[in-house]
Amino acid sequence: MMELYLHLPFCRQKCRYCDFASWSGQEHRIPDYINQVIREAQQHAQTLGVQAVDTVFVGGGTPSVLPPSMMTSLLEGVFRFFPPKPNAEFTIEANPGTLTREWLDAIRKLGCNRLSMGLQAAQPQLLKTLGRIHTAEDAAVSARMAREAGFENLSLDLIFGIPGQTREMWRESLDFALALSPEHLSCYGLIPEEGTPLNADLDAGRLTLPDEEDERAMYDDALSILANAGYDQYEISNFAKPDRECRHNIGYWTREPYLGLGLAAASCFLATGGGCIRETNPSNWEGYAFVVDKKAPREQEIVSHEDAQFETLMLGLRMTKGVDEKIYEATFGESISVRYGSRLKSLQQRGLLEHEGGFWRLTRRGMDIQNSVLVELME
Ligand code: SF4
Repeated sequence: MMELYLHLPFCRQKCRYCDFASWSGQEHRIPDYINQVIREAQQHAQTLGVQAVDTVFVGGGTPSVLPPSMMTSLLEGVFRFFPPKPNAEFTIEANPGTLTREWLDAIRKLGCNRLSMGLQAAQPQLLKTLGRIHTAEDAAVSARMAREAGFENLSLDLIFGIPGQTREMWRESLDFALALSPEHLSCYGLIPEEGTPLNADLDAGRLTLPDEEDERAMYDDALSILANAGYDQYEISNFAKPDRECRHNIGYWTREPYLGLGLAAASCFLATGGGCIRETNPSNWEGYAFVVDKKAPREQEIVSHEDAQFETLMLGLRMTKGVDEKIYEATFGESISVRYGSRLKSLQQRGLLEHEGGFWRLTRRGMDIQNSVLVELME
């Protein structure tokens, strides 16, 4: 099993809350960048071998900033070394306001079968606070265009906890998204990141976040509204119609190996005993060009057997299904109850974890305080 991630760090305009490795006004770099990513794929193929991948995820950044011909050159170049398997899930992220029918037709032709779009909110004032370049109506137009182009698997992102957002606005945003009948929805709580313009506004008191109680109520609204609409929650922030869970992300949460290509992209190669080696590309243009041109070593982290055991719990407990104790034991040669027994039991007795059908999972109450549960498991 292998997953492939491609990072495209180009955006039309930088959103006010975003600290991802992405920049606006850098389109002149696209041709060189495409060559570098293809060369990086070739270098990895020399050590890993040419191999077909189970999932492809093209993220960023805003991949829809790449014109159709450049997207085609990039993906055809990378797929010479890491082609998608015939039944692969192949997602590309796109932003409303940057999509054209020509672009959608081009990515369909390349085999893309899942489109993930950032809607974020239905209200113009909230989209402005976030610094988004589109309106909610743009998202609706893009979603309709994607359907016409043949996309049967559409995912939308929404954000709650935005300064100025009320519960009523949040419910309106959920209703707006549901009217577009996406197969998948991600609902993220806003995290103000250091160094972003939005965070500076919050620090200076120009903006105020909704209080914690309201934010929790918004999350609860998402759980009930989406459940009523036929979406299963399969991870803390992710909801899907049956069989439409994002296979690529489930791969991350179940610690499948992945290859990340492009600036700031990370790869994870499994090691014996359940540990892994994680490599991360530099997150600036010059550094990335250097590691590709000179075949220089990337930043490397060795995840030990013990760290991997905790990572399995940390990632597995994000999912509503939980951690499979049989897979855990097969991976680490040690039962989860031997490793974490008394702590798991104590959390279970306090109603924060449940143990059922060979899986350990967080209860609803446990999900609310997931970080404290993990700290307790780590001690
Ligand atoms: S479009 Fe996405 S990656 Fe680009 S700035 Fe906005 S949030 Fe960040």
